[in-house]
This record gives sequence, C-alpha cells and structure tokens, in this order.
Amino acid sequence: MGRVLFLLLIWTPLYAALHQEELKKATGYLKQYGYLPTSLLYPQNQEEELEQLTKAFGIFQKAMGLPVSGKLDSATLTMMKQPRCGVMDPFNNMTLKYRIIGQWRKKMLSYRIYNHASSLGMAKTRAAIQTAFRYWSEVSPLRFHEVSKGYADIKISFHGKDRTCPAPFDGRGDVLAHADGPESGIVHFDADEIWTEGQRFGSNLRIVAAHEIGHALGLGHSQYRTALMGPVYTGYRDNFRLHPDDIRGIQVLYGKPVGNLPVAPAVPNKPAADSKVPDPCTAPLDAIMLGPLQKTFAFSGDYVWTISDTGYNTPIQITVLWKELPGHINAAVHSQRTNKSYFLKGQKVWRYSGFKLDHGYPKLLIIPPNIDSAFYSSTSKKLIFIKGSEYWQWDELSPSNEFRHHSKPLSDLVVGLPSSPDASFTWTNGHTYVFKGEKYWRINQRRFIEKGYPLSKSERWMHCED
Ligand code: ZN
Repeated sequence: MGRVLFLLLIWTPLYAALHQEELKKATGYLKQYGYLPTSLLYPQNQEEELEQLTKAFGIFQKAMGLPVSGKLDSATLTMMKQPRCGVMDPFNNMTLKYRIIGQWRKKMLSYRIYNHASSLGMAKTRAAIQTAFRYWSEVSPLRFHEVSKGYADIKISFHGKDRTCPAPFDGRGDVLAHADGPESGIVHFDADEIWTEGQRFGSNLRIVAAHEIGHALGLGHSQYRTALMGPVYTGYRDNFRLHPDDIRGIQVLYGKPVGNLPVAPAVPNKPAADSKVPDPCTAPLDAIMLGPLQKTFAFSGDYVWTISDTGYNTPIQITVLWKELPGHINAAVHSQRTNKSYFLKGQKVWRYSGFKLDHGYPKLLIIPPNIDSAFYSSTSKKLIFIKGSEYWQWDELSPSNEFRHHSKPLSDLVVGLPSSPDASFTWTNGHTYVFKGEKYWRINQRRFIEKGYPLSKSERWMHCED
C-alpha cells in the first residue's frame, strides 16, 4: 500500500490525470465483478480505499494468472478490456477453485431457445447450444432435452441494450452474456455481439453458451483462466474441451456420468400419495409473496414455485423450503420492514426468518381463522389481512396487538376489489397485486385499481401459452 501511495505522489500531473481516469474505470470493473464492495462502507477514507484497492487488484491479478502487483499495471488494464461474462467473480475465498452457486434437484432438464443470434440464424444457434449442453452431459449424469413451447428449466434468449432484461447488456464487446444459478435457469446472450461458429472472428456461441450453461447448472467462475468457467472469454479454439476443473466442478454437484442411459430424475421428497404436483398455468393460488432473497413465491396445495420475468419455475414441495409448514395454507406475507415471513392456516400463524422457523411458533391467531389473503403495505409499512369483505391491519413493531377489534370494510382499503381474494402481495415495483381465480388486479400506491385490470394470471405472471 505504501508503494502505491508513493507512486501516486511522484507521478507527473498529466500522467496522473490519465491514470486517474483509468483507475476510475478499473475501480468500476472491480466493483461490478465483486472484487470491491459497493456498499456505503466503501470508501471510508483515502488510506482505507487504497488498501482495499491494492487487495482487490491483487486478487484479480491472481485469479487471472497475471503477475500480482496490487496496482493497475498495463497487463491488468489489458485484461480488464477483454470481453467476458457478466456474472460476478466472487474470489474472496481464495481456497476455492470453483464456486458452487446452486444445484438442480433433478438431473433431467429441459431447455428452450426463445430467439436466435442474428448472425447465425436459428439452425446454427440451435446446433451451437445443443453441443454446449453435450459438453456437460458427457461428464455428468445430467440429461438435457429441447422444448419449443411452454415451460423449460433453462431459458435461453438474446437481448440487447433495451430493458427486456433487468440487467441490460452494454453493446458490442465487454459483457457477452450472463446467467443465473439454479433453479432460475436464465441464460442471456448479448444480441449486439457478432456470434460466430468455426472462426476466430467474433464470439463463439458454442463456447460462450457452454460457459453460461455452466452457471445455469450451478457453477461459479473458476480461478483457472484456461477453464471454460474462467470469467474472461478466451476465444475460439478448434478442439475445445472442458478443463479438469470444469469437470471436477460439475461432478461435485451431480456426480459422475452413469453409463449412456438417461437417469431418472431425482425426487428430493417423495410427494404424499394424494398430493399432485400443481400445474402453475391452471392451479388456483393459495398465497403469493415477495419472500426471502426478493423472490416471488406462489403457493398451491403442498407445493410452491418461484416466478421470474420469464414465467414460473418447477413447483417443489413447500416442506423442502419451510420444513414445518403444512400444505394448503390460507395466506403468506413477507414483511419488507422486519424481513419476517408469516404463513397463516386455520387458527395458526407460523413466522420464519428466511427458511428458519422462529422460536415459539406456530402461535394462535388473534384475528378470525381462515384468512383469505395477506400482503405487506409498502406505504403504511403494515401487514394487511383480508377475509371476505373485511380487512385488518397490523403494525409488527407496535407493542400492543392493536388490530384485534379493528376490522374495516375492504372497500375502505381499495374500491372495487373482489371479496375473498385467493392471494395478494406487494411486488418489487411497489404495486400491490390481488389474485382471485384466473384474474388479478393491480393497485397503485394511492390505493386505486389501475385501468385495464383485471388481467390473466396465467398469461401475465406464469407466462403460459394456450
Ligand atoms: Zn460467467
């Protein structure tokens, strides 16, 4: 750190100005990819900033196989200009050679290609992606099959700078693609890249797809720069093969390949005989909430599934996530204020911190049993419980249970809402959504139903097609 300070002091002003510009960009890069904290804690003072920066440069250089100088040298700058994957490099724990970011609970996975690379066309896009999946199925018991419509575990699409993806791409170069870990299955490619096959020009879709599929299967970035899961795109190779580190990673997650036969999907918890897996396109909702990890959870019977911007994910048994919960709950609500999740059924309420049941729960409700739905109000910061055409509101932080005798007509809350809604929740955009049957209503923060509602739940939320 002393060395960096010293160098900063002896630089000529012009050189220092240029360097400041590059240093700013490099700092941005280190933050974007997880080498530097982005929180308010950073930076506290100049000395601490330099110390953190030196450490971050050192980790980045080590991860990229560069000489470790702990400062912005030309090799580091060149490396930072290479096209790469948009997923972060959490290399803070230097003992890990690969990081696991999640795991599918089944080994047979479907994938769907929503659109294609304009430079390749659909047939070549499909072939590249098919081969990309094969690299992984050859060294693991995983099996993949393509579907052309409806739900798929892994959802592959090309996006540009527009806002069709919550993390829009940056135009040609820099970030080529990004993906989420299990069980999201999101794989996005930058539509502005020139995707190619069989040539050094452009970006090879097959190799980049194999990398992103690695993320979708649960692998984080590898510290071996020549591994497929290395964060920086290493370019087209004639005889591309997985690195031993890639193979080790996938086998830690799913085991070694089992013959050439497809294996039966793993079922974590055998469903009870009378418990059918609901079809998110048609199943009635018991409850919905914006829960832990800011994910949208939908409940039906003994099952829960998450909803992302491309639709629903595979339903799993509720007890896989919330061990003590019964099925067929009445309502669920997650408080953005206390970060607690409440589940109501009959006369009881279960309160969770994340996926851990709080001590003393379940407790008896002091509002009437069999509540229809509940949501967190981001304006009043209270929990709202609806039953029939009445509602109760509860301040979690109030010492008295003030809401006992305070039911009010639902029409005081929002005019025109149906009575006895199935489910309701306040989403990331601050709007409250109320569901009943196949329909849903959107309420704005001034507590009005917005124009154009109700709309179709299965179409808009689950992304089902007929
Ligand atoms: Zn990546």
